[in-house]
Amino acid sequence: MKIHEYQGKEILKRFGVPVPRGIPCFTVDEAVSAAQALGGPVWVVKAQIHAGGRGKGGGVKLARSVDQVRELSSSILGMQLVTHQTGPEGQKVRRLLIEEGADIRKELYVGIVTDRASQRVCVMASSEGGMDIEEVAAHTPEKLLKVFVDPATGLTDAQADGLASGIGVPAASVPKARVVLQALYRAYWDTDASLAEINPLILTGSGDIIALDAKFNFDANALFRHPEITAMRDLDEEDPAEIEASKFDLAYIQLDGNIGCLVNGAGLAMATMDTIKLFGGEPANFLDVGGGATTEKVTEAFKIMLRNPKVAAILVNIFGGIMRCDVIAEGVISASRAVGLKVPLVVRMKGTNEDIGKKMLADSGLPIIAADTMAEAAQKVVAAAAGPR
Ligand code: ADP
Ligand code: MG
Repeated sequence: MKIHEYQGKEILKRFGVPVPRGIPCFTVDEAVSAAQALGGPVWVVKAQIHAGGRGKGGGVKLARSVDQVRELSSSILGMQLVTHQTGPEGQKVRRLLIEEGADIRKELYVGIVTDRASQRVCVMASSEGGMDIEEVAAHTPEKLLKVFVDPATGLTDAQADGLASGIGVPAASVPKARVVLQALYRAYWDTDASLAEINPLILTGSGDIIALDAKFNFDANALFRHPEITAMRDLDEEDPAEIEASKFDLAYIQLDGNIGCLVNGAGLAMATMDTIKLFGGEPANFLDVGGGATTEKVTEAFKIMLRNPKVAAILVNIFGGIMRCDVIAEGVISASRAVGLKVPLVVRMKGTNEDIGKKMLADSGLPIIAADTMAEAAQKVVAAAAGPR
């Protein structure tokens, strides 16, 4: 789950990272009042969307008067902001952060992720802040310093100081950078984040270390432990099909292809997508209906898949372990009837009561294409999606 910059800064502040004073706003009038409350002489008007690169896309602007705050807020609020992370259609700006302007001497970078290879939390830092860190990592990897944290000790003073000095923080400001790095690590750890990033972290004219941006991603499977973070969710920023799917406890991710996939189990769903690609097709979605695939769930899954206009054929691939194939067949039949299915449907089912399930599908009178193996199912659905409709 992602959150907005201003929400990320609330978390940083709670853990002891200094951030500029700022006020989130939903309207131009609120933005003007916020600017007056903060006092000048310089403000920054910042679009709040769940994507980075806002500065380059025109979503972060400096204002030198309250009138300018008003002008910039009315042009940014409601704009369709396009950045390298939003895709060409962009994202509509519905919230702003009005913030005091900071005195930037140097822009730095710090980020934290869990490194799967070492199974440790990795803290990264660079002197090259403000820009795309991917570019730094690709072209000048020596400028991206990394340390791996022992969970028993946390980020040690020596590690934090080493990173700070390594990215050019002057000696007098190293203690302040240490506080920030250790607070960021604790924020990451305590909130079950999967990413925590400050870009840029700045050194000010007076030697302070301040977070000018904040980005957090959270492990969705740990959100039940963090109601205060779950409350920060902004559904306007999420894919409507994925929101609908989560209501029915379906794991759904929309993709770019034209073959809808309905599968039980995440591993089988991944293997199904791979097999479709192997035979020259492109999946329209990832969809795991989970262990308890009831008729209601299968119907909702069909509806969600079919809302995507690109879907030209559907592949249902079910392994009936605890779940019996006849129950799945019943679900598929009633779901196909309920949604008035118009695209070709290939069904492969294996496992408990397979024969009964297959007979039910054959007797249903629905134009269902049966398949026995994964390869056969994938070839049939790829042909069906390409064929005349
Ligand atoms: P994004 O990463 O989405 O482009 P940032 O929050 O990093 O957005 O802002 C982009 C740039 O705008 C920063 O690198 C910084 O130079 C400038 N900036 C952001 N906030 C402030 C601020 N409060 N005061 C001064 N400059 C700022
Ligand atoms: Mg940034």
